[in-house]
Amino acid sequence: MFVSRREFLTSASMALGAAWRSPLWSEVGPNMPPHPGENPLLLGVDYYPDQTPEALWEEDARMMAEGGLTNVRIAEFAWALMEPEEGNYQFDWLRRALDVLHKYKIAVILGTPSAAPPPWLTVHYPDIVEVNERGERLRPGGRRFSCPTNATYRRLSLAIATQMAGAFRDSPAVIGWQIDNELTLGSSPRCYCDFCRAGFQSWLAAKYGSLENLNQSWGTVFWSQHYTDFAQIPVPLPSGADPNPGLALDYDRYQSLANASFLEEQLRMLRQTCPQHFVTTNNVGLPLDTIDLRTLYQNLDFVAFDNYPGFVDMLLEQRGQASSLGADFIPNAIALQHDFGRSLKKKPFLIMEEQVGKAGQSTFSPQPEKGQIRLWSYQAVAHGAMGINYFRWDTATFGAEQYWHGMLNHDRSKSPAFDEIIQTIKELKSLGREVLYAPYVADVALVFDYDSSWALKIQPGHYALRYGNQITSWYGAISPAHTGIDVIGPADDLENYKIVFAPVAYVITEPQAQKIRSYVENGGVFVANFRLGVKTESSQIVHNSLPGLLRDVMGVTVADYVPIYSLKQAVKFSSILAGADGECGIWADVLNPQQAEVLGTYTSGQYASRAAITLHSFGKGKAVYVGADLTGPSLARVVRNFTRMAGVRPELEAPAGVEFTVRRLGNKQWIFLLNHTPQRQMVKLPGNFRDLISRQPETGNTELAAYGVRVLEAS
Ligand SMILES: [Zn+2]
Repeated sequence: MFVSRREFLTSASMALGAAWRSPLWSEVGPNMPPHPGENPLLLGVDYYPDQTPEALWEEDARMMAEGGLTNVRIAEFAWALMEPEEGNYQFDWLRRALDVLHKYKIAVILGTPSAAPPPWLTVHYPDIVEVNERGERLRPGGRRFSCPTNATYRRLSLAIATQMAGAFRDSPAVIGWQIDNELTLGSSPRCYCDFCRAGFQSWLAAKYGSLENLNQSWGTVFWSQHYTDFAQIPVPLPSGADPNPGLALDYDRYQSLANASFLEEQLRMLRQTCPQHFVTTNNVGLPLDTIDLRTLYQNLDFVAFDNYPGFVDMLLEQRGQASSLGADFIPNAIALQHDFGRSLKKKPFLIMEEQVGKAGQSTFSPQPEKGQIRLWSYQAVAHGAMGINYFRWDTATFGAEQYWHGMLNHDRSKSPAFDEIIQTIKELKSLGREVLYAPYVADVALVFDYDSSWALKIQPGHYALRYGNQITSWYGAISPAHTGIDVIGPADDLENYKIVFAPVAYVITEPQAQKIRSYVENGGVFVANFRLGVKTESSQIVHNSLPGLLRDVMGVTVADYVPIYSLKQAVKFSSILAGADGECGIWADVLNPQQAEVLGTYTSGQYASRAAITLHSFGKGKAVYVGADLTGPSLARVVRNFTRMAGVRPELEAPAGVEFTVRRLGNKQWIFLLNHTPQRQMVKLPGNFRDLISRQPETGNTELAAYGVRVLEAS
């Protein structure tokens, strides 16, 4: 029976797992091994034949094949070569490149090129260029400067993608598509042009049905903003004072949807023209919140993310944040991205770009340490990646990314990490199918809600309060508990988790409150912190006492909410949390327990001895309100207490800086051990194991080298 690529992925519907009977990629292209027992992963490279003399293509393909690479991703920035003038399509060069790659059994993911429109296009159609948040039109010359709603840009983006699809639908080399490139990134994440304003007005008319409804929802009576025609509604550009919060939140939603509908146009065409190919797009995920990725990836086959840990390191240093965030921050931030990527579609995800050397545009990021690229590769696979594309093959000697190092240096010699990457590919191929298809075990969920993130960005309440920072901190606090974490949305089912964390759940809708209520009633443990349930989905403050719709579940009301500046606050712990006092960072919700038990109190000022942390037994479950913005070790200690209370037990104890993930299938179990530190580490194993890389038995204490990795099968 013929099973299309998409049907296969859907029917496999994976939960990372058990349903897979044959290697994922055996269903895709003629070059992939069709029989069980061989490599199920995509292990490729991002390649630019458009930037490489044709005389070198054969050498490149041969070297890739010799290194065991399975595939390339190409052409996502080659619009000007593929359509040098409007309607004049030139694919001969790309066809020749594909022929060379196919000769060496290198499969191809084709990128549609809409992230970088060519100069002829912006000269003919200057209004496709986006307008930024200050009302200034950007200029062509970089990338990601186009407006997602502009009809001309959409028509021409779809036209080049359609021509590509028609030209390569039957190419034996092609296995799938990447639409556009990094839609979440750009110097201006929102466009405010006249096209977007008109689109926003139409979208609002469809959403609200009537102006009366819209005026009511936004509270436009404030500052005389009552609208009598949808055409009067502005976009949130500078206007002497802050915009209406309801309007601003709807504009975030509209711009996010505009990007998703831009992508959908190309997706629909690709489904029709190339039904045998997979389709995805690549992005940088959390804590970046510019586009709701749950919507963006809804109809794509799987999630693809780009991973540049060293680039993050460089940015943190530039911002002076690196020392305050600590050594665990970057490994945790990567793990958060990976868990988000896996959780978005509850399927394996692909790393479309993986850092292989110094990376940057005007400055270099640090050189990865020996073993780190191997570690990052295993970390992705440990969290559920079904493949890794290393970015990039060679290193450009021209253009804005001359500093972005590839597997080959500028002089085409092998980079310091070349051999490490080839060895990693060889190892990953030898792991076998079973461990890779076994589901990732997660008893814990962390909620990431775009509405709360956007609403809080519009009105943070405290200059330092960022939703993304809170999510990252809480992820970092849960991580030392060494339990798998799914990063879910507020509409996702909670029943499968022993404990659900929802930091700064600022916007809570009635259906979300009901979901949380029944989860706790049925025995779940729900942990929230300050600013819980403050806002409606129209970004109005709720009329009831806080925490609004969740007062009954939490068993408390909020007596006062206190942003913290120079007058510091601390928390004294009691009962199950007893221990050294904790620091309270930037916020304190002062709680009035109704039926809840007090587990922590504030220590100073007018709220000394008032409740800071409460625990409420509700139905068969428990609801925890952490009113204080706990920092660092005290947050981790509190979180660990609650995960234990929820019955979450780590498979083993690991030292700081050592991460592990668990895969389980039936009564079989595997553990990925990942040492993110530059020192050797010892880990005490909870039984007898076999190392899938060295093939040696492991028991008792096992040693991890600096940046070392072990994949252990329980025996
Ligand atoms: Zn626009």
